[in-house]
Amino acid sequence: MPFYVAGIATGTAETRVFLFFTHGNRAAPFQQVVSPPLKCQPGPGANAEGATRQNRERFLCETHPDILYLWPMNPFELIKTSPHSKARLGKLTTDHGVIHTPIFMPVGTAASVKGVSPRDLEELKAEIILANTYHLYLRPGTSLIAKAGGIHRFMNWNRPVLTDSGGFQVWSLKDLRKIKENGVEFRSHLDGSKHFFSPESVMKAQREIGADIIMAFDECTPYPSTEKEAEHSLNYTLRWTESAMKYLAENPPVHPYRQLFFGIIQGGMHIPLRKRAIEAVKALNPDGYALGGLSVGEPAELMYEIAEACTDSLPEDRARYVMGVGTPWNLLELIGRGIDMFDCVMPTRNARNGMLFTSEGVLRYKGGRYSQMFDRAPDPNCNCYTCRNFSVAYLRHLHHSKEILAFTLASIHNLHFYLNLMQQAKNHLAADTFEPWAKEQIVRLQREVCGDGGS
Ligand SMILES: [Zn+2]
Repeated sequence: MPFYVAGIATGTAETRVFLFFTHGNRAAPFQQVVSPPLKCQPGPGANAEGATRQNRERFLCETHPDILYLWPMNPFELIKTSPHSKARLGKLTTDHGVIHTPIFMPVGTAASVKGVSPRDLEELKAEIILANTYHLYLRPGTSLIAKAGGIHRFMNWNRPVLTDSGGFQVWSLKDLRKIKENGVEFRSHLDGSKHFFSPESVMKAQREIGADIIMAFDECTPYPSTEKEAEHSLNYTLRWTESAMKYLAENPPVHPYRQLFFGIIQGGMHIPLRKRAIEAVKALNPDGYALGGLSVGEPAELMYEIAEACTDSLPEDRARYVMGVGTPWNLLELIGRGIDMFDCVMPTRNARNGMLFTSEGVLRYKGGRYSQMFDRAPDPNCNCYTCRNFSVAYLRHLHHSKEILAFTLASIHNLHFYLNLMQQAKNHLAADTFEPWAKEQIVRLQREVCGDGGS
């Protein structure tokens, strides 16, 4: 019987796999028979460090005579580092598609990017979206998503998805949560019901949701924090990351495709703690690294400094993701410091609040000065669906009339702006012109558009 393999757990000296037996190819309906974890060794033509770049690598299984086709050990390929900065071009391979970095991931909290359909997202060329474990756990429940066949089938989005671990949301509940040694007890923001997240239960939840990239369960260190407080908090994250990886290694996946695991680096604004966190997480060998606890109220310069110190120590050959950041200029600054992946609610949330990011700066389209600009696109230099078809006057009217379409059109523009900015960054990186371009953009994009055609 043909079979298909999923759920490789790296991080220990041996590679453990879980088998899914399938009928026919991957696209066809499959029957899952999960075997106990098997010990595997690299077979002929395979390279345990993932140096070969085929989509699948050959492994020989000690307890199974057949050759198994597995994913590369390292799903990230560093294509290029800029000769003038730490900015990088890369490629992250998942079972639902390849992600070209630097990348921005639109946020679809409850398995929906607010106001924007998956069809719109495909048109916007979004390569990956993010969903929130905390929200999906409370509603509709992660076992229901598993029953639906995973998040891709549930929401009809067939490209990659990343889920956060819920750590940040639980942390944000402040008065509704209690941090304990083995997890966090919290009350639902919906109905006040009591719940408990442990590193293991959060991995189970993310396995059920079935995102392509899943995140460690972490404790977000508040800002400001003393070194002692930050260290105490970091110790939770480090212990929980180990527990999460242990759970993943010992328990079979729910869906028959690979889920990459990213470790999260905490440590507050204390560089020695961040370095310690990196060394500890590096020893666990996750598929990628995220920087958590940034953009939590600290000045932007401090955020850049911490990110830069972290990328000095992070392995070159793994993807790096700064969670929950930020403005377009934040992204450009961080790309220059060696960050590959970003997510933020800002483009969609600000769109709903009347703010657009444009090629000429920030435009607050609610203003009266736009009421008769029938011939002016929200961003005259933009070729998104909104800017190609509607005037800023109409968008303003929709917003003041509280029409849902205002949120959709404004969100489409802002997402296009972020995604297009990342595409331009990639083009400039390929041409070795990223730094002068980014420097000019960082100044330009922060300006306020006055609405008289100039800025
Ligand atoms: Zn536009």
